[in-house]
Amino acid sequence: MRLDTRDLTKKAAQDLEKAKHAIALTGAGISTESGIPDFRGPSGIWTKDPEAEKRAYQRYERFLEDPKGYWEERLSAPALLGDLDKAKPNPGHCALAELENMGILKCLITQNIDGLHEKAGSRNLIEYHGSYLKLRCTKCGSRSPIKEMDLEKLKEEEKLPPLCKCGGVIKSDVVHFGEPIPVDGARNSQEQAWKCDLMLICGTSAAVYPFAQLPRLAKKHLIEKEIKTESGLYVVKQVPFTTIIEVNAEPTPLTEAGISDYLIQGKTGEILPQIVDELVKSPISPPLAGGD
Ligand code: NAD
Repeated sequence: MRLDTRDLTKKAAQDLEKAKHAIALTGAGISTESGIPDFRGPSGIWTKDPEAEKRAYQRYERFLEDPKGYWEERLSAPALLGDLDKAKPNPGHCALAELENMGILKCLITQNIDGLHEKAGSRNLIEYHGSYLKLRCTKCGSRSPIKEMDLEKLKEEEKLPPLCKCGGVIKSDVVHFGEPIPVDGARNSQEQAWKCDLMLICGTSAAVYPFAQLPRLAKKHLIEKEIKTESGLYVVKQVPFTTIIEVNAEPTPLTEAGISDYLIQGKTGEILPQIVDELVKSPISPPLAGGD
């Protein structure tokens, strides 16, 4: 039976209700409805300007070679994603915060650096690629709010790059291409991907590694289950532990490789609130079979 978007939304609500440890993964797609462009969607920054992608790949090298020059450029150039301070969470961010409030979602791992999940009220949040609102010491790894440091003043006084109390050079907490993922976020995310029995993946092309490894790691988690055969005998089979659901505007490599169990195709700002509505409308109706 082929299920339509409405049926799949109901099915996702049922799967979420049954899950004991549901987590969500998000990418740039969840923030496009807040006016922040993604990279690889049809109106994405890379899609429109492939040269911008090449420049982004050089940013971390620039920091390593010349931290002062990196900071001077950062403070004078317009931000790639526009003025993030003006962006507001949209219904997709709010729905995920609501799922956490309902006790359903145990953790949210985002690739986004825009701080919108925090603004929406998500608390158990891993910012895998850091946050534009924070600074991070490259030596001791400590983070601090960017607003606590007057970077413009440091620039005027020729005191860039900013230094940590430990003597380490401070960079933006945002993880640039080619930069290692900070150990705390990488380790906690891997633990969550292995532990979860449901992974809700929202608005990501799943093309940026190692983040894109997390659904693949969850897919490898198999458990043994007794299954009744046609003859009435029971056999022990290895079955996937984690249900993987995608909510995305278009199919992704996860859809095509069969990593996700099903894709709900559409806008996260519309589908995620519908899932919350279904859960609020309890009791949930009997499970819907299929997904193809
Ligand atoms: P991506 O640009 O590679 O992919 C975004 C995906 O979301 C696409 O498949 C697109 O079709 C889909 N999409 C766009 N709008 C959608 C919507 N309203 N509803 C559902 N799906 C939608 O993004 P990515 O996979 O997150 O990888 C890009 C990298 O760039 C990430 O590592 C991220 O850190 C960074 N980035 C962050 C932001 C941000 O913080 N808002 C913005 C751009 C890029």
